Amino acid sequence: MNQNLLTAEIARLKASKTFKVETSLQGPQGGVVKVGGKEVVMLASNNYLGLSNHPAVKKAAIEGIRKYGYGVASVRFLCGTQDIHLDLEKKISRFVGCEDTILFSSCFAANEGYFASLVNEKLGTEGHRDVLYSDRLNHASIIDGQRLCRPEYVDKKIYAHADMADLERQLEADRGKEYRFRMIVTDGVFSMEGDLAPLQKIVGLGRAYGASVFVDDSHAIGVCGETGRGTPEATGTFRKIDVITGTLGKAIGGAAGGYISGSRELVSYLRQKSRPYTFSNSLPPSIVFGAAAAFDLLEKDRSIVGRLHANTAYFRKEIAALGFRILAGEHPIVPVMLGEAATAQEMSTALLKKGVYVKGLWFPVVPKGEARLRVQISAGHAKKDLDRALDAFASVGKSMRIL
Ligand SMILES: *Cc1c(COP(=O)(O)O)cnc(C)c1O
Repeated sequence: MNQNLLTAEIARLKASKTFKVETSLQGPQGGVVKVGGKEVVMLASNNYLGLSNHPAVKKAAIEGIRKYGYGVASVRFLCGTQDIHLDLEKKISRFVGCEDTILFSSCFAANEGYFASLVNEKLGTEGHRDVLYSDRLNHASIIDGQRLCRPEYVDKKIYAHADMADLERQLEADRGKEYRFRMIVTDGVFSMEGDLAPLQKIVGLGRAYGASVFVDDSHAIGVCGETGRGTPEATGTFRKIDVITGTLGKAIGGAAGGYISGSRELVSYLRQKSRPYTFSNSLPPSIVFGAAAAFDLLEKDRSIVGRLHANTAYFRKEIAALGFRILAGEHPIVPVMLGEAATAQEMSTALLKKGVYVKGLWFPVVPKGEARLRVQISAGHAKKDLDRALDAFASVGKSMRIL
């Protein structure tokens, strides 16, 4: 392999300031973490419920290893299904309000294993064609999952972000066509903006045009809705979504794992046909136990989600009161809008020096001129952590003349 080509690309990434640098944490994830020997407030993790280092979750994971071992050394259908996998699938089904659930090693794998497993199969139909309507800002794993669909079997359409008029126009244009499956595909919460998909409207359009509705609720499971059941709960569409995917790697303990929830028939079919399920290892017992404990905590103790929502409301109110421009909303993703990439980068560095860990996002991840710091609030933050972060924002904002 010609390494020079790789070196040149790395140089190009650095020159365009899109080279990703990893800062290592010297200990567990949490509301406060250790970086460079210093305690800093973590505002960049998906640890929305503060469960990634929670005693009950850790205890469960250790018990999982004690009772069921370290690894399963098999895919599910050979000898990699333990009773605990089936129990967790039932638990998730109950929690998200679907008939059945199939586990994957990640949500990336779940999304990768969804579209092609349907689109590429004839299922007894001759010359079939399916159509996908996908939000322009959908997650990379949805885009990659759709790329695995054979072009001769699918029309892939993109609608403008959360633009229901655009979606309806495209559905209407296809009304008379002989599609086999019509699927509307959206993230429940979009990670750059922290906005919720308009699921009421999407469900209505799905019904009107005979399309199934697929929601990737990775940033919403355990986060949105009064009891953390996700975007459907928050938008009044609980039990009205055909297919829900999600991750166990964010609010639900933050380790790993993903799932697809839907009808009994769909899940049963995916167990036969979804390649990242059929040909990739089963989730290890530690993770199965840890995730189950996280769901149990959520069901037992409403105060955790309540604390996340209260912390989010507090931070959103106070950061706006300081004079920063944020994107309005209710999600713990709070984009602090700064404009230029250099400003976001400089501010992120200055904040770390003041004990606050937050990352900047800029073009091409977000549109030009919309560079931002993406703050993520957690139930694991104490009020004093949030106040410390707000003080740092105020001081850095003044010294950089943003405020
Ligand atoms: C994080 C995320 C994923 C990937 O989840 P993993 O379990 O980490 O693979 C997929 N979709 C969305 C919308 C996400 O935010």
